[in-house]
Amino acid sequence: MNYNRRLVCLCGTLPILKISWTNDNFGRRFLDCSHYVSSFRNPCKFFDWYDPEFSNQVNTMILGLLKKTNKQEKQLKCRRMLKLILGISLICNVILFFYLVCR
Ligand SMILES: [Zn+2]
Repeated sequence: MNYNRRLVCLCGTLPILKISWTNDNFGRRFLDCSHYVSSFRNPCKFFDWYDPEFSNQVNTMILGLLKKTNKQEKQLKCRRMLKLILGISLICNVILFFYLVCR
């Protein structure tokens, strides 16, 4: 793809730069028509890759990093939930302690 050319869509509008989330082209940018969704009856089928195709090695690396990131986000969520539960438990124990001592 020539990055210096000004692209015009098949329907005459400027295409939108988007990012692919599929496993085969994860993170790869492409140009898509802004009227694709809104023009139900006669959608513009303009499509062009913006980035060159990634090698299999890069794809594997990106997917590995994504899996690692997702795993770390899950662990972080669990830790936050555990912190919340421990905080609530501590407050309940303090209240129970003073209730029992002050009786
Ligand atoms: Zn279009």
